[in-house]
Amino acid sequence: MTMRTRRAALTLIAGSLTLALAACGQSSSGGSKETKSGGKGSTIGIAMPTKSSERWIADGNNMVKQFQALGYKTDLQYGEDSVDQQVNQIENMITKGVDVLVVAAIDGKALSDVLQQAADQKIKVISYDRLILGSKNVDYYASFDNEKVGVLQASYLVDKLGLKSGAKKGPFNIELFAGSPDDNNTRYFFQGAMKTLKPYIDKKQLVVKSGQTALNQVTTLRWDGATAQKRMDDLLTKAYSSAHVDAVLSPYDGISIGILSSLKSDGYGTAAKAYPLVTGQDAEVASVKSIIAGQQTMTVYKDTRALAKVAVQMADAVLTGKTPETNDTKTYNNDVKVVPAYLLNPVSVDKSNYQSAVVDSGYIKASDLK
Ligand code: BGC
Repeated sequence: MTMRTRRAALTLIAGSLTLALAACGQSSSGGSKETKSGGKGSTIGIAMPTKSSERWIADGNNMVKQFQALGYKTDLQYGEDSVDQQVNQIENMITKGVDVLVVAAIDGKALSDVLQQAADQKIKVISYDRLILGSKNVDYYASFDNEKVGVLQASYLVDKLGLKSGAKKGPFNIELFAGSPDDNNTRYFFQGAMKTLKPYIDKKQLVVKSGQTALNQVTTLRWDGATAQKRMDDLLTKAYSSAHVDAVLSPYDGISIGILSSLKSDGYGTAAKAYPLVTGQDAEVASVKSIIAGQQTMTVYKDTRALAKVAVQMADAVLTGKTPETNDTKTYNNDVKVVPAYLLNPVSVDKSNYQSAVVDSGYIKASDLK
């Protein structure tokens, strides 16, 4: 390259940089060309699904705290399980000029239009906990190993029922529950659980008396405990008038509490009619108490403080022109592309380890379990 052409090229680069920055209407600190520039002082829009479950309240609060500690402003909104409300909230965030969006979707497939608006404004999007589907405008995914959650729940049942021992134990009666059909995590949880349970169902060591084993027969819209309670009532009436339920695969603590209420009304919880093993997820206070009381059997603990940290690190990286750290670039295809993810490890918790896992770690205060 001659001196002249080099200088011309440099002028061109400088020119396009100025243009890009002018287009963003922001200062020049950090930010890649396609990202709204920003860095400290930028605003992060955080869209969470609902306050009806403890975990999302914790997720929101943890992120606000951590973003603010790094010098960011935050706009935290809860969609209260209404898809329209969540779309409106995200639209408002875009209008107000947030610099990055962190979204835990209510309906994973309902955000394509609003995320196109975000992309038009060069706003990067981090999909939080639940993968957003059907949109190319999802930049990163922060979550847990979702299939492993299902594996942990199901292997717990397999272990406690002694199914792995050489003697052909059983048959035991089991019923299956899954999460909300519009949440992408649901199929991963169920997939992990079913690949663990299926060999025993095939060998008839586990029997699903209701016959409901397909995902579309066992989902629970919006993860609603009352909906699960009603389904358990129906199952008990139809399939268990003269049989005992030995295990229930439940994907989430709120659903487990609904299932346990139904069992209680049916006379379970006595020496003659013991509770079945009941799984769960999220280590919510009510469920950890239920575990201590010998009702729910286990839960899967996912440290929302750690997840918030991953999302904060991702947002901070994109706003300061760095590449966020990821540890999985294969698993999470959202039907348009594989979204680079950082996945954390879920932990199985029961009566034997709740103290060290959730109390000693400071996740739940001992006094809240009294
Ligand atoms: C989350 C779970 C939670 C469920 C219900 C899922 O997407 O991964 O942790 O139990 O939603 O809120």
